[in-house]
Amino acid sequence: MESLKPKIAIIGAGNVGSTFAFALMISGLAREIVLVDKNELLTEGEVMDLNHGLSFAHPTKIYAAGFEGCIDADIVVITAGVRQKPGQTRIDLVHSNVALFKDIIPAITKFAGNSIFLVVTNPVDILTYVTLKLSGLPSNKVIGSGTVLDTARLKYMISEYYKVDTGNIHAYIIGEHGDSELPVWSNATIGGMDIEKYCSGYVHPGIAKKELSGIFEKVKNAAYKIIQAKGATNYSIALTLVKITRSIVRNENSILPVSTLITDYYGISDICLSIPSRVSINGVEQYLKLELSEEEQELFKNSANTLKKIIKTIDL
Ligand code: NAD
Repeated sequence: MESLKPKIAIIGAGNVGSTFAFALMISGLAREIVLVDKNELLTEGEVMDLNHGLSFAHPTKIYAAGFEGCIDADIVVITAGVRQKPGQTRIDLVHSNVALFKDIIPAITKFAGNSIFLVVTNPVDILTYVTLKLSGLPSNKVIGSGTVLDTARLKYMISEYYKVDTGNIHAYIIGEHGDSELPVWSNATIGGMDIEKYCSGYVHPGIAKKELSGIFEKVKNAAYKIIQAKGATNYSIALTLVKITRSIVRNENSILPVSTLITDYYGISDICLSIPSRVSINGVEQYLKLELSEEEQELFKNSANTLKKIIKTIDL
């Protein structure tokens, strides 16, 4: 980090990129925010609109640029690419967005070879892996937003159902940010108590696990519902990105289920997947080897294999 307040480059000024810029501006975390998008008119409009609100936020330099604008960025957040249409899965985007990344990652790396790259574009785990390979950066510096958003959705829904503050819930969703993801109930707690015991003690003893599974299904399908209703998701992902950014720039060492390169994790290597990881000024400092139940191990391996099959079809 060159200064106490960093420079953040955002690639893609669509729904996710522009909402993240707005949330980041309000957070006061950044000294400079540069927006890069092939749609120059859109980017100019977003930059004007953001700057016109600056007198109500923290002093920040916000501007539009080409890829050269990534120079000296502490973090490059990549949101460029196609998004899901109603009914499409994240995996359905793979070929278009891999082709795009083959174009843009070398262009970004040329100017920001020392930055931390935070990948958001879907399918995020595959594109994090593609970014790692194309950029040549060390694996700690290439991070996918992964299941941080899914985990936030899970905490929110549990907190609503069981009437408990989200901050007292420790529960993670791991694996693919997508249809094969899984909740790690075996390690989940509320107020220090095993989650199933907590839930059985408060609501409908005996069916807590079934209820929790129902909540997880809603979490997994949340993006489909939002996309059906309003065409895109933007607010919660923007705040997710602020949280990850804060953990990096303030060296908070938060444990976040970001997508990261794993090696011999239950026998799985050479793939990016979400695992609770300690995120610091260096990016991913370490990922945690969770003690998964046998059922969770199977689900995790299935999630990894789903992605591996797709990665094999990509020419890198
Ligand atoms: P969007 O269509 O609103 O914005 C995408 C932007 O990318 C557009 O403005 C487009 O001009 C730009 N772009 C395309 N090609 C480019 C290029 N070569 N150079 C620069 N910019 C380029 O889409 P969105 O709703 O902002 O979603 C963006 C991506 O983020 C999608 O892939 C979506 O699935 C993903 N997403 C991920 C998560 C997550 O949790 N990881 C959450 C929400 C959305």
